Amino acid sequence: MRKPGLVESKRHLVGLAIIPVAALGAMCVGVISGLGTYDITVSAWDREISLSTQAATVADVLAAVNISLSPGDKVEPSLDTPVEDGMEIRVERATPVFVRFRGRTFPVFTTEDQVSQILSAAHIQPEPDDVVYPGLDETIAGGEIIRVAKVTFGEVTEEQEIAFDVQRREDSSLEAGLSRVYKSGVPGLVQVIYQVKYEDGVEVSREEKARKIVRDPSPQILLVGSAQEVSRGGRNIRFERALEVTATAYCPCAKCCGPTAVGMTSTGVPAARGVIAVDPRIIPLGTRVYVDGYGEAVAADVGSAIKGHKIDVCFDTHEEALAWGVKKTKVYILR
Ligand SMILES: [Zn+2]
Repeated sequence: MRKPGLVESKRHLVGLAIIPVAALGAMCVGVISGLGTYDITVSAWDREISLSTQAATVADVLAAVNISLSPGDKVEPSLDTPVEDGMEIRVERATPVFVRFRGRTFPVFTTEDQVSQILSAAHIQPEPDDVVYPGLDETIAGGEIIRVAKVTFGEVTEEQEIAFDVQRREDSSLEAGLSRVYKSGVPGLVQVIYQVKYEDGVEVSREEKARKIVRDPSPQILLVGSAQEVSRGGRNIRFERALEVTATAYCPCAKCCGPTAVGMTSTGVPAARGVIAVDPRIIPLGTRVYVDGYGEAVAADVGSAIKGHKIDVCFDTHEEALAWGVKKTKVYILR
């Protein structure tokens, strides 16, 4: 136990020491160093200062060397420590890190880099259900963020579709290559109950708890053509497969084929009735075909606008081409 009187007498002694120093001036500093002048060093961020001082406390030393402290700066030993000879004072500048907690983000000025220490410096005590990013034992650098999120759970019910199957049925009254929807499919419905985990109200994961079929799916029935012979104009046409296409028409003229047209197709066959332009990815060039409403033809031309299920049928005259217009028709790929 310290006696109150002792503190009083010590202060008195310091007061007495200062007066002679002021009076004697710099020449005599060495002489009276034993009476209250201390040789110390101050390390502050990038600099180190060695000095002789008569300051009484660490706080007085920092004031004398013009070091002002900002919140969170760390001083060792503490500011109220009495100065001693040979003392090393270290000042560490605080950097801001950010903490997000209960919907608010705020800066914390600290010299600590461990998450748990930064949180205690900010007087934040995570609850047992909270999660902390990065983890409490991790370290972070200035400017980075610590997120303390509240974990909650909830139940979510969702209805989901069940895809229907497609049942294919061969139909001999339909041309090979074609198909028709005989009965539309109806997706099924299933009710799924999830347990959902939230962090600060935002879903982070879910786990399926139960599932109940509300409605079974009903399959689509698709008729798939198998016929390979059709009758046209009293004549039977045997074919490999049929395609449904949109058919436009052209002739060898300059209006149809451009001012430099020479009446030739891209394959070198003269452009005339009996030639059609195709997308070769759909109908290979050289294929013999029968086009409903047009007749027999060979796929011998291409066109920039003829892509996919489109063809361009060639006529000898422009009038015939105009008369055709645009038609939906069938192309039979001949054997
Ligand atoms: Zn023309």
